[in-house]
Amino acid sequence: MERRRRSAGGGWWPKIVNLGVGKASSWFAKNLKRKIGDGGNTKFWHQAWKGEQSLKVLFPRLFLLSNNKNGNICDMGEWIDGSWMWTLNWRRVLLDREVEQIQSLLGQLSGFSPCVGSVDKWFWRAQKNGVYTANSAYQAISDQFEERRVEPEEMKSFSDLWNTTAPQKVRVTTWRVLRNRLPTCDNLIRRNVQVGEVEKGCVACFFPLESASHLLLDCPKSAMIWDQILNWTGYSWARPRGIPEHFSSFVYLANCKKSSQFLKALWMCTIWVIWRKRNESRFEDKVWVLKSIIMEIKTRMWSWNKIFGFFAWESPILEWCSSQLYSFLL
Ligand SMILES: [Zn+2]
Repeated sequence: MERRRRSAGGGWWPKIVNLGVGKASSWFAKNLKRKIGDGGNTKFWHQAWKGEQSLKVLFPRLFLLSNNKNGNICDMGEWIDGSWMWTLNWRRVLLDREVEQIQSLLGQLSGFSPCVGSVDKWFWRAQKNGVYTANSAYQAISDQFEERRVEPEEMKSFSDLWNTTAPQKVRVTTWRVLRNRLPTCDNLIRRNVQVGEVEKGCVACFFPLESASHLLLDCPKSAMIWDQILNWTGYSWARPRGIPEHFSSFVYLANCKKSSQFLKALWMCTIWVIWRKRNESRFEDKVWVLKSIIMEIKTRMWSWNKIFGFFAWESPILEWCSSQLYSFLL
């Protein structure tokens, strides 16, 4: 069952932090707008309230230097003589190049002031009443395909993915991975977003430029994760290059529909966990611990199995994590 939460403005929403990033044509960003009221319920750095990307993605160096990383918009400024003034505070005295970034940030924020007496809320434009539903999201993506005259093959892989037995937030992230639409450093640079020399590298191995294929597949640490996950399934393969090829080769290791559903979900789960670890490492300075990443993937698959019923599994979770699944996948 998809975990949902109630927004301050009323209505049910999927968890959307980190999803509001993408090109102007991104179906999600295009349809979701944050309407800022008094700024009391919107995270200044974390939520994409000014444009399609969060400020921590646009200004990672400033985010690391901020001494109020979790503040709401209303905490980051004050009213002086009837005008809204930003009062951003930093952990140390800033270098010249950082001051330039602040000017760029303030430029981006110019013209904005909170609206006293009104609350912040999300508005989903694909639905008349502004409330998100999975069906309207599906329709929004389908409409976008029609606008772009996408090949039937691409539409098929989209509908394959949408019908996969995995939580919706995971399907959305995976779809963005397959379309190379994640805000990895190479993609941000391609969109003329300023990314520092140090920040643009891989957070796991310090490879000089982070890309989706490096981070999710080729990075030595990710490759070890895939090796162990594959070992868990009991299959072996010649690892293909490229994300779409990796996805289809992994799924086609299975020789029946049930196993293929499981492997599809496992691939998506692994990608999703690696992406989350990347974000925790980049934005919260957490370190990668391979063993706990593997355990998180297996544990999530255990709970998905409970929900989606890939296999009849009655034994405890520890046995699930330590067994080889090959006999179930046949
Ligand atoms: Zn790496």
